[in-house]
Amino acid sequence: MTLCSICGKEKAVIKIPYEGKYLCKKCFKKYFVEKAEKTLKKANVFSNSSGKLFVVATSGGKDSLNALYVMKTLSKKYGFDVEALLINEGISGYREFTIKALIKVANRLNVPYRIVDVKKHFGFTIDEAAKLFFEGKIEWKPCTVCGVIRRYLLNKVSREMGASYLVTGHNLDDDLQTAVMNLIRGDFQALIRGGVVVKAEHPKLVPRVRPLHYIYEKESLIHSIITELETPYVECSYAPYSLRWNIRELLNKLEAVESGFKYRLMVKIDDLRERFSKYKVQKFTECRLCGEPSAKEICKACEIKLRIMKVLENA
Ligand code: SF4
Ligand code: ZN
Repeated sequence: MTLCSICGKEKAVIKIPYEGKYLCKKCFKKYFVEKAEKTLKKANVFSNSSGKLFVVATSGGKDSLNALYVMKTLSKKYGFDVEALLINEGISGYREFTIKALIKVANRLNVPYRIVDVKKHFGFTIDEAAKLFFEGKIEWKPCTVCGVIRRYLLNKVSREMGASYLVTGHNLDDDLQTAVMNLIRGDFQALIRGGVVVKAEHPKLVPRVRPLHYIYEKESLIHSIITELETPYVECSYAPYSLRWNIRELLNKLEAVESGFKYRLMVKIDDLRERFSKYKVQKFTECRLCGEPSAKEICKACEIKLRIMKVLENA
């Protein structure tokens, strides 16, 4: 039996490879929150945070529930408010289960929550958009439509809620996959905009923060189990159609042969981000149709909406 490297008494439940530590349940719970706190503190998120509102984008999956738990725990120490926001994309066999998980955890943590329907705002669900993609009627994969629409609504609604920060549950695996995807696409601007904090580059953009940026997906899973943040471990059926899926497989294979590889690469990428941050180009304007921040005259969400509604009308 391996004993915990911190207390030296209890049985270890997890190995933290890049720190050479084995941790028991109790010490891991503490380690998890402290690691997220250290990550946010280093990024200056808590300076003058008292009385401010942190809206946590919560899908009801393990990562976002962990982010909600961490922020609620830290809110007592730093004096800020926490609310949860869920975007219901309309993905059957998936989202209805995670909505139930969010409601249960939010009630347990005593956190107010808001649920926003994509169908109500955009006139279609992601299931309907996916059907059009598989029929060859639109060129955007389900994850592309979902990502654009979700980012749009999270920013708009959290701003309307009065958020100073929008917190997301992206873990180290997610953020590393995104960085590699941006490298493959040659999107240097998106690459250097990532990291623990994504600053607001337009008055209508809410700064985004990622407390789990240095926490492995596996650590997130174990934390959600030992803190009893009950969620169904279902995966969205559209995930395998994305580039992210293949990159995830590749990074997992590399981690299996070289333990701690993902963490070391993430640190290197963040170091590059800092060095190249002076090359950031702030080119946001406002969408001519909806008034939301956009890099082009018409934002991607409106472009997708117009196209999908046209196809649906002609069907
Ligand atoms: Fe949306 Fe793709 Fe995630 Fe499914 S896997 S929830 S479609 S981004
Ligand atoms: Zn728009």
